[in-house]
Amino acid sequence: MSANRKNVHVVLASRPGEDKEATENNFRFEETAYPDDPVEDSVLLVRNLYLSLDPALRCRLNEDTGVEYVKPWKIDETVDGFGGIGEVIVSRNPCFKAGDLVIPNFLWPWKLYFTVAAETVRKIETQNVTWSPTLYLSVFGLTGLTAYLGVKEKGHVVRGANQTMVVSAAAGSTGSFAGQIAKAMGCERVIGTCGSDAKVKCLTDELGFDAAINYKTESVMERLTTLCPNGIDIYFDNVGGEISNEIIRQMNENSHIILCGQIADYNKRVEYPPPIPSDISDILKTRNICRDRFLVLMYRDQFETATQALMEMYNADKIKVKETIETGLENAGKAFLSMMRGGNTGKQLLDLR
Ligand code: NDP
Repeated sequence: MSANRKNVHVVLASRPGEDKEATENNFRFEETAYPDDPVEDSVLLVRNLYLSLDPALRCRLNEDTGVEYVKPWKIDETVDGFGGIGEVIVSRNPCFKAGDLVIPNFLWPWKLYFTVAAETVRKIETQNVTWSPTLYLSVFGLTGLTAYLGVKEKGHVVRGANQTMVVSAAAGSTGSFAGQIAKAMGCERVIGTCGSDAKVKCLTDELGFDAAINYKTESVMERLTTLCPNGIDIYFDNVGGEISNEIIRQMNENSHIILCGQIADYNKRVEYPPPIPSDISDILKTRNICRDRFLVLMYRDQFETATQALMEMYNADKIKVKETIETGLENAGKAFLSMMRGGNTGKQLLDLR
């Protein structure tokens, strides 16, 4: 049966260079062999339904990722990302049956049909729930966990303490959750920075942010001076670069930075986290601002309880989810690059159905 079935995948065609933006030409979409039906019960045959597209994949286009938790993609080999949703097509495993929806523990290929070790995936709940399975890639996935655990572990939110938090890339997936979660945990005032007026409107009108700044058309420094008369207590940093410098200059003594990501420097040849200017490092020291690197994968032991907490917040309508969905595996590279340039509001996904 499998001999006549068509299969497709995305391979790495070339590397852009560490200090350049990637292009669609760095990816190639092509036919590949359809996998044989598994004969062992430890293996499942899966059809890919959705892909998660994430900024941290940018480092995998380089010869050296510069980070310890993930390896570079290899030229002419199938690209894989941080998560997706698959439908089990063939299973001899008693724990999985055809039709089950599964998500991986970590990596997931940009391929339509593939076999996967049953022990590396888990079934997602589709009975008794009304929510979309894509929530397992957004609010119940890695970005929801990053926002929740980042705020919980590094934010030092104290209910009733009249704190102000600023979030950068606030209309993206992690940022939009981080702001909403901080408010749900008792942070008084949350302000976001983002790259368009439509995103500003979404943050303030739909997601409960108190204010938002379009960093492409407004002065972040001037707006923050007006919006934060008592300074900034918590900064959820997704971008780094000059936006972060302007935010840090207005932070209070003993305040906290959640150093989540530095996307402004992902197309640059710099180590991670990138170096900061000396005046910023002086501010961190003299004001005793805590700026520890945060990596969600260091908190795997909390994933289950954190997911439970996120489900409760979602069901209680404390977190709203925005998604931007492109379709077709042939558009994987295009959708990834669009997200890197700010084309997304909320979680960037690819629908392969
Ligand atoms: P997003 O959904 O936030 O998408 C990325 C966004 O970054 C874009 O929409 C764009 O929004 C913004 N952006 C791109 N380039 C720049 C720039 N030069 N300056 C300012 N903003 C820019 O992605 P994620 O939610 O998946 O990731 C957000 C951040 O969190 C990333 O830095 C990522 O690496 C990090 N992360 C960290 C994890 C951890 O464990 N520490 C885990 C997961 C993610 P705009 O229109 O506003 O420019």
